[in-house]
Amino acid sequence: MRTLLADHPLVTHKLTLLRDSSTDTATFRTLADELVTLLAYEATREIRVTSVSVATPVDTATGARLTEPRPLIVPVLRAGIGMLSGMTRLLPMASVGFVGMVRDEESLVASTYANRLPARLDGREVFVLDPMLATGGTLITVISMLRDRGADAVTAICLLAAPEGLARLEEAFPGDDVRVVTGAVDERLNDKGYIVPGLGDAGDRLFGEV
Ligand code: URA
Repeated sequence: MRTLLADHPLVTHKLTLLRDSSTDTATFRTLADELVTLLAYEATREIRVTSVSVATPVDTATGARLTEPRPLIVPVLRAGIGMLSGMTRLLPMASVGFVGMVRDEESLVASTYANRLPARLDGREVFVLDPMLATGGTLITVISMLRDRGADAVTAICLLAAPEGLARLEEAFPGDDVRVVTGAVDERLNDKGYIVPGLGDAGDRLFGEV
């Protein structure tokens, strides 16, 4: 597993506003959307392209086009939905699959309640959207589901990550075909599995408490 820390000043600026507990839901949603587009730019640095020629009004130019099959974007419900438009802005041609995961607040173990993924993902690049990489349990489950279907390059985009979660992912996926792109690696997890200092419950901050 490879980790890419996108420590661009604009990423840090937007992340700081997201962390601020006085930021309201509407502003939080807009900032998360903008931040994902910045992270997506870093996350797609190795996206596969094929060399093509196009006729310009003046001559022929050699360029690149995304390779088929097109990438798949997988937001992890619920909070990952708040990252989807920021990602599709950069990859409008990608398909979108969904996985729903819910975390038991006592055991902190995540279980799957929804799965809308293609049966096979051979040769496809997949971008998983999950704002908070906390214990790593959710991402290990989702990435394993994708690899079982044949995905050979999986990149998780997370607004924030905890060192404990990154270590668990590294242990689960020792190869370099899994990557995590994040805006910051925070200090630690607390005993409720929240990232410290973090930004609180990303789902609640995006969509309001339910
Ligand atoms: N999920 C969240 O929404 N926040 C955390 O800090 C950890 C997990």
